[in-house]
Amino acid sequence: MRIRISGTHFPLETLGPGRRLGVWFQGCPLACAGCMSRHTWAADGGRESSVGELLDLWRDALDRGAEGLTVSGGEPLEQAPALAEFLAGADLLRDAADRVREEEARPGARADFLVYTGYEQDEWDPDRLRALRHADAVVAGRFRVAEPTALVWRGSANQRLLPRTALGRARYAPHLSRRAAGPSVQVVVEAGRKPGEASAAHLLGVPARGELAFYERWLGERGLRLRERSWRP
Ligand code: SF4
Repeated sequence: MRIRISGTHFPLETLGPGRRLGVWFQGCPLACAGCMSRHTWAADGGRESSVGELLDLWRDALDRGAEGLTVSGGEPLEQAPALAEFLAGADLLRDAADRVREEEARPGARADFLVYTGYEQDEWDPDRLRALRHADAVVAGRFRVAEPTALVWRGSANQRLLPRTALGRARYAPHLSRRAAGPSVQVVVEAGRKPGEASAAHLLGVPARGELAFYERWLGERGLRLRERSWRP
């Protein structure tokens, strides 16, 4: 099945516990004021991928010790059938990884799935619920710039971290009211693929208030002048 994504990254360490594979879906109609990811809004932006390609990345991440998978966006529930297929396949692969670990008597915890959506729970129709069937936890709700929060992995105080499985309850219970400590943003600089093509700096995570301006200065001091910023109209 085809799927439109904005990007992927491993290891992601700022959206969920441990070292994770991050997958950002492309397309979001919710247009929250203050969104830092405006480049993910256009449904025809990003690049076309396939569920199979993402599952290859997940298999590779598991081989490299991934502790979880985070799906964000954009709005993942805008491509609910593709998300459902991706998480179902990812679930089979983590079962296989668990079996191999058991056979080899290697220590390690089962990887968890965390999904970010701007849709509130009462907006989850049957297709969206099906897509979240394998999600161990969901961060739900629009980003509201006027409601800042220090809660870890949430962008605004209204957003709720909702464990949905036994694994999700066990892994996320300690974080439900935990305030962020340590870096909340990971900076990944990607060189232009062709000569003359601009580099891109990706800020992965949920920045605290004022942190984006800090990183603009920080990148500038390292010789990276930003021509476009995904958090500015
Ligand atoms: S914050 Fe999330 S839900 Fe809101 S516009 Fe940005 S990508 Fe969409």
